[in-house]
Amino acid sequence: MKLLVVGSGGREHALVTKLLQSPRVDEIFVAPGNGGMSVCCTPVDIKATDIDNMVRFAVENKIDFAVVAPDDPLVLGMVDALEAAGIPAFGPDKKAAILEGSKVFSKDLMKKYGIPTAKYETFDSEEAAVSYIKAENIYPTVIKADGLALGKGVIIAQNEKEAIDAVHSIMGDKIFGASGNHIVIEEFLEGPEVSVLAFTDSHTIVPMVSAKDHKRALDNDEGLNTGGMGTIAPNPYYTDAVAKECMEKIFVPTIEAMNKEGRPFKGCLFFGLMITKNGTKVIEYNCRFGDPETQVVLPLLESDLLTIFEAVRNERLSEVQVKFSKDSAACVVMASGGYPQKYQTGYEIEGLDEKGQAPGVTVFHAGTKAENGKFLTAGGRVLGVTAIGKDREDALKKSYEAVSKIHFKHAHYRKDIGKIR
Ligand code: ATP
Repeated sequence: MKLLVVGSGGREHALVTKLLQSPRVDEIFVAPGNGGMSVCCTPVDIKATDIDNMVRFAVENKIDFAVVAPDDPLVLGMVDALEAAGIPAFGPDKKAAILEGSKVFSKDLMKKYGIPTAKYETFDSEEAAVSYIKAENIYPTVIKADGLALGKGVIIAQNEKEAIDAVHSIMGDKIFGASGNHIVIEEFLEGPEVSVLAFTDSHTIVPMVSAKDHKRALDNDEGLNTGGMGTIAPNPYYTDAVAKECMEKIFVPTIEAMNKEGRPFKGCLFFGLMITKNGTKVIEYNCRFGDPETQVVLPLLESDLLTIFEAVRNERLSEVQVKFSKDSAACVVMASGGYPQKYQTGYEIEGLDEKGQAPGVTVFHAGTKAENGKFLTAGGRVLGVTAIGKDREDALKKSYEAVSKIHFKHAHYRKDIGKIR
């Protein structure tokens, strides 16, 4: 079969790595892909959000199955457009992708259907939001832009000034554009965070192995929020009891709620959860595989990913096997120095073989490009170095051993991935 995978990050490299293990896959086109993916797949120079050209390419090249991985093309309706052109595609349609595309929608859905989440109010005017902040006067408080904001749309304000400044920059200065037309102000929750990705065809929901993300740029969870500096699976906080609670109170109610709203969700549904002393609550939904979580979750999947994707798309998920290994996985992200702010690119990456790999680990490429037989840095997050081990310590040891042998100028990585405080 000929597949098309849309996207260019470590997540997409993890997806194609797993899909290539399927005996039915002959060729994978990646649009636009990256240096690492160019070794195992055929790169196509089309931007991930360019729906018209993506559909044209898929039709002209007789693609048998497409996978849309990033949030923005999903929210823009790329799956709808591919399906309308006769290309079977994995991912939610535009109506269902709103679960990530609008935080006002997802919070109102949770309230309406009794799904546990932080208490909140929504606002469409700066004045009303500021009056609420002054009246409420509880800190920290959490201010969220309604729409997509490259993972930067959440501000945790420690006092009134920070809260009002956040409202002003989102709604007044429009730092996230139209994503800031509405905002959510919500209660600050405390507790360990867990990421759970789940396959769902809108009838059945099958959670994958849990993961723990490390969002801050520096050790000890200091520095700015990033797209994610590393991750481990499984997440030690996600006990069997928590998993049962989530299935009953969060996972099943969410797909039922989406069905009742006439927005059946088919694809990978990401639950960002916080285990608080008052029970597990939803922090956010994403309508796609998380990054870097996918880089530890998929290597532990023992079943055929293409078969699962087809079953999700054809609403027959209950008929296929979804099995995960009992091992652990760890991914350490190597980033360009300065990320998530200013950084330089174009540096040669040393320590990789001609396939962009290193011994004992799988190196998922994110911001890289291949040039004259070399790999160069081309983005903020550069590589996700993933190892599998019999337990977390074993996986982390292998991953850090490999990281110590990979070099590029101004490389930065956290030394405390997987550390449980
Ligand atoms: P992502 O890049 O994961 O999509 P996002 O911009 O959609 O991020 P959220 O995941 O909603 O943002 O929030 C980012 C982080 O902010 C969370 O992982 C969590 O650490 C923190 N956070 C969000 N909401 C709350 C809350 N109510 N209480 C405490 N912390 C919160």
